Amino acid sequence: VSLTIIRPDDWHCHLRFGAVLADTVRATAGIFNRAIIMPNLYPPIYTIAEAIKYRSAIQEVCASSEFNPLMTLYFNTGITRSLLQEAVQYPWFKAVKLYPAGVTTNSEHGVKNLKDIFYVCELLQEFKVRLLVHGESNENSVDVFEREAHFIEHYLQPLTQNFPDLKIVLEHITTRQAVSFVKNSSDNIAATITPHHLLYNRNDLLGHGLRPHLYCAPVLKTELDRAALVKAATSGDAKFFLGTDSAPHAISKKESSCGCAGIYNSPVAIEAYAQVFELAGELHNLERFASINGAKFYDMPINTDTITLVQEEWVVPEVMRLGDSEVRPMLAGEKIRWQVVKGRRYV
Ligand SMILES: [Zn+2]
Repeated sequence: VSLTIIRPDDWHCHLRFGAVLADTVRATAGIFNRAIIMPNLYPPIYTIAEAIKYRSAIQEVCASSEFNPLMTLYFNTGITRSLLQEAVQYPWFKAVKLYPAGVTTNSEHGVKNLKDIFYVCELLQEFKVRLLVHGESNENSVDVFEREAHFIEHYLQPLTQNFPDLKIVLEHITTRQAVSFVKNSSDNIAATITPHHLLYNRNDLLGHGLRPHLYCAPVLKTELDRAALVKAATSGDAKFFLGTDSAPHAISKKESSCGCAGIYNSPVAIEAYAQVFELAGELHNLERFASINGAKFYDMPINTDTITLVQEEWVVPEVMRLGDSEVRPMLAGEKIRWQVVKGRRYV
């Protein structure tokens, strides 16, 4: 069995910086034509000058001149009219990413009180810049498994009511509440879904010993939630599209007394998605999810070349190089049913 689809894009990706960049870029640019690059470096990407510098560093290590990194700025109250006027001149500038403070890697610079953000949202709406949201409440009284649902009810709902023309991507959704919120919202609201939230539930993380390499933010949820995500992703609905949230950490940072959140999936992402869509009996919708819906939401052209996958089992490496250290990719040491045979730009 073989499957040819339009070359996909990754609408949510962490490439990190420094020595690891060559490895993360290779994994992403090998398959994806474009990727939305997250700005949560240390320090975060706040200005267009910093985004230009980061983008050049990515292109410097990238063997493919076709790969198009799309840049984002880290949401902050220093986002002004003149900054956005400058930013929208660049075709690769696509969005601003909002992190509630303290919920994930390098989010300590994030917004502490979401009610303070309305001024910036008004500007984003005016300049037609997309708002990408890490949708988790950061209050200590909110249970870690309830953060997303709480955020939707208390912050996102009011935000969408106040800014009906603002295009928002609720990133890496994890719950059935998120699925139904996005489905019942206007066409300005969409969501990315990761391969790991389609493959795993919290039993996989916690039910048979602690599996630190499955620890991510937002944390894995219940089987009912996972099933709702699979249904949404594989339905072909234009509001849901591919975003890996691939977020590598060295093994020592994951296997630790306070392990970092993040799963490195880009080396196996498209194969893993194919497996999920096949199991759901919806392989024919993979192309919409991976290669069409996101481009349309971002008002960008659909890619013109293709990749081909065949059903041929292979074993994912136990460890992969990550700059000066090593990382355990998603599905490490496990068999995967699909393999890319045409269209990988370089291996
Ligand atoms: Zn992310």
